[in-house]
Amino acid sequence: MEIKKFKTESKRLLDLMANSIYTNKDIFLRELISNASDAIDKKRYLALTNTNINTDDLKININIDKENRIITISDNGIGMSEEELNQNLGTIAKSGSFEFKKELDTNSNVDIIGQFGVGFYSSYMVADKIEVISKKYDSDDIYKFISENEEGYFIEKINQDIDFSTKIILKIKENNQDFEYDKYLDEYYIETLIKKYSDFISYPIYLKKNDKEEIINTMIPLWKKDKKDIKTEDYDNFYLNNYFDFEKTIKTLHYKIEGNSSYTALIFIPSKAPNNYYSADFKTGISLYSKGVFIKDNAQELVSDYFRFIRGVIDSEDLNLNISREILQIDNQVNNLKKSIDKKIKTTLETMLKNEREDYEKFFDSFGLQLKYGCYEKYGLNKDILIDLLLFKSSHNDKYTTLKEYVERMKENQKEIYFASGDNIDNIKRLPQLEKILNEGYEVLYLKDHIDEFMLEIIKNYDNKEFKSINKVELSLLNEKEQEIINKQSEDNKDLINKLKELLKDKVSDVKLSNKLISYPVCISNDGDISIEMEKVLKQYQNQIIDTKKILEINPNHDIFNSLLKAYENNENLDDYAYLLYNQALLIEGLELEDVYEFNKILNKIILKSIK
Ligand code: ADP
Repeated sequence: MEIKKFKTESKRLLDLMANSIYTNKDIFLRELISNASDAIDKKRYLALTNTNINTDDLKININIDKENRIITISDNGIGMSEEELNQNLGTIAKSGSFEFKKELDTNSNVDIIGQFGVGFYSSYMVADKIEVISKKYDSDDIYKFISENEEGYFIEKINQDIDFSTKIILKIKENNQDFEYDKYLDEYYIETLIKKYSDFISYPIYLKKNDKEEIINTMIPLWKKDKKDIKTEDYDNFYLNNYFDFEKTIKTLHYKIEGNSSYTALIFIPSKAPNNYYSADFKTGISLYSKGVFIKDNAQELVSDYFRFIRGVIDSEDLNLNISREILQIDNQVNNLKKSIDKKIKTTLETMLKNEREDYEKFFDSFGLQLKYGCYEKYGLNKDILIDLLLFKSSHNDKYTTLKEYVERMKENQKEIYFASGDNIDNIKRLPQLEKILNEGYEVLYLKDHIDEFMLEIIKNYDNKEFKSINKVELSLLNEKEQEIINKQSEDNKDLINKLKELLKDKVSDVKLSNKLISYPVCISNDGDISIEMEKVLKQYQNQIIDTKKILEINPNHDIFNSLLKAYENNENLDDYAYLLYNQALLIEGLELEDVYEFNKILNKIILKSIK
């Protein structure tokens, strides 16, 4: 007989499981019961269109043989062929364990086991010999998978009368000083585990206790139970055990809709985004049932992308049962469901924002970026749905503000919504252009996410007020008198300004005196549609080099300006000063120096000159 080796990646995972010091070995039972339940779901699903498939007496059996240290879990689900035993149990590439393994590669903390459905392999935490006997529903052949250690396994065809489709046979490890394995041979302990983790499984789980078979689980799925019979704790346990999260949800919705589309929903809004949330392999955690029959997981067609952070169960009353999983997406009833779910999420978030601000802000910290993408996507098609759910940091205080709140605080003469962008709030607060506008009593939104400016570009305005970068604000509009003074200063110093323009002609499109600055000598602003922040993002993500039209603004009330005048009059190193000031302005804007060597050279030259 040929012994097959586990694939390397499986092997690593198995070693880890077998030698795990992880305390919560209990989850192996939850995983195997859940596999059994999935297998029955699959058979029931096939039976919807194939009347030859027998779906009577669907059940899961658990048996304990203390003497031989064996616990078995059997089901009459879909079963596995030889090839499937090989594929499904010999490799982890397809299972939940795969996600787990990926995480393991980046994070060596063993405790993450609890975060994933590690599936079948979790058996290796408690057993030193594992056998699986299985018969596929449409075949008479029975196969046995045997694995005695983490090295490999073999599969043989057997002749036997069986009254199940799949049976998992675990030989429980001997007690050692670190762990008492005997408890997995104790019916009462196993009973508590079933009640704790698998109560809602919709098929009966039989356990032999004192030689009598007994159904342990209540079987009514949580969402089908009456709300008044459910404790917060039940929801929490359901969520934590099914979605492998460590943290309780920020909101749980359990409701029933009758009418146009009738359904029961149990929806969770998580507190934190999973690690892979903003990556392509994240899948929406919504399962679809139809009158209690499982249809599919990851039913992303049931919720708009911008709300894809929700998890839970939708149990529809009126889905066409013959529907194939593929055509779900275009089904009208599914569309109605989606509309209704979207609406519910939106009103829930709105209510949270209004009445539970702290929770909403926590939610926004995790999923705000998703809402922003939602506003931006599809050329802003959904912006009106989402815009009032957005939060921004601003100069008002250190807390979040909505756009509505911002507008309510706007000064009487203010016509636009001001914003400043940068890599982080601290850097934004230090932007030279900000000082004056804040001094004048205007509020400025602080944008730190890459998507922000692109999104505002799409949103364009709020409550008829346009968004305006502080780089482009014409303070002259705000303060005419000051502008007059600046105009005069510009006229008086036009020779110097022209000279600077000439010296920097390859770098900036204009040099001008500014009325935006107080304590800083210079700043960079820009002209045109692409802002400096957008330039940075495009460069980082799309490797697109875009040269925004930069303007060097000089503070005429700063000592540096007087020094520049002197340098100009004495014809002394003006080119060097101009160069340094321009680069200084780049740096404070969060841009890179154009040429580090040149910058150092000129700086050193100035230092040498000044220390004489
Ligand atoms: P997951 O359940 O996350 O896919 P597992 O490692 O637990 O990962 O299982 C791998 C695969 O083996 C399952 O996807 C399923 O196809 C198959 N499988 C496991 N247990 C059973 C069972 N009791 N009956 C039929 N198929 C099963």
